[in-house]
Amino acid sequence: MPDLPPLTLYLAAPRGFCAGVDRAIKIVEMALDKWGAPVYVRHEIVHNKFVVDALREKGAVFVEELDDCPPDRPVIFSAHGVPRSVPAEATRRQMIAVDATCPLVTKVHNEAARYSENGLQMIYIGHDGHPETIGTMGQLPEGEVLLVETVADVARLSVRDPAKLAFITQTTLSVDDTADIAAALQARFPAIHAPAHEDICYATTNRQAAVKAVAPRIDALLVIGAPNSSNSKRLVEVGRTAGCAYAQLIQRAADIDWRALAGAKAIGLTAGASAPEVLVTEVIDALRTRFAVTIELVETAVENIEFKVPRILRQEVG
Ligand code: SF4
Repeated sequence: MPDLPPLTLYLAAPRGFCAGVDRAIKIVEMALDKWGAPVYVRHEIVHNKFVVDALREKGAVFVEELDDCPPDRPVIFSAHGVPRSVPAEATRRQMIAVDATCPLVTKVHNEAARYSENGLQMIYIGHDGHPETIGTMGQLPEGEVLLVETVADVARLSVRDPAKLAFITQTTLSVDDTADIAAALQARFPAIHAPAHEDICYATTNRQAAVKAVAPRIDALLVIGAPNSSNSKRLVEVGRTAGCAYAQLIQRAADIDWRALAGAKAIGLTAGASAPEVLVTEVIDALRTRFAVTIELVETAVENIEFKVPRILRQEVG
């Protein structure tokens, strides 16, 4: 074999699975153990094809609506959260429903409810059409929550009473872009209430910080994640903004654009919060077929957060 060109691979840490994703996958597995197959899951449990396919193999059935679930089988709500109408309808149908909504998304749901009870109109910083956005906006009656995606949207807002406003955010946004939008909201509506604690979750924040630390050292960044994974797409953007000229979102090694990596001396690698470590190993193995790889870990935080699964899964069968 000819000598391979040397490559330093900067491996970002933290990367990959977060506590909310870990918990959601565990919920599906425990539900399959407890009730047997099939167990229905409303929407992809987390946005990763590899994870979804593995659970499908074990007997999970992924559907988009409650109407697609038979009433006599358990249904699980995905980590992204659901509008209030969904569990209400499951209860009306007397279904066994297990909520795999990440506790950090539920925290934002509770915030929205509390602000609304205090008579505040809600502004939600998030991405239109993302299931988390639909779930969080669906905690309040239609029209009660106004969506903004950009600083430009803030100027176009038409609110009920500028003195009675609060904002909340999606958990997987770009930390920097969100700060700009929040600043625009505060400039236009000085009385607006901000979330008591950051809505962007620790996993999103930590993964973006690690990419920022890696970006100045590399010629190219590979982010393992699904095209519909919000936090993964943000990692690509953060990499570019932090100075990495080439950043690519890949689902797995087969998606690597080798021509774009030709001549690279240093590559960064990270994975979104719903991408399993096995895919990171796969990408490293693929890089080793083309380069003489030296790995350098760039660790900007250590995570040791774990979330409990719902009580219904901790109870004995019977
Ligand atoms: Fe929860 Fe954050 Fe993970 Fe989403 S990315 S599941 S909010 S910990």
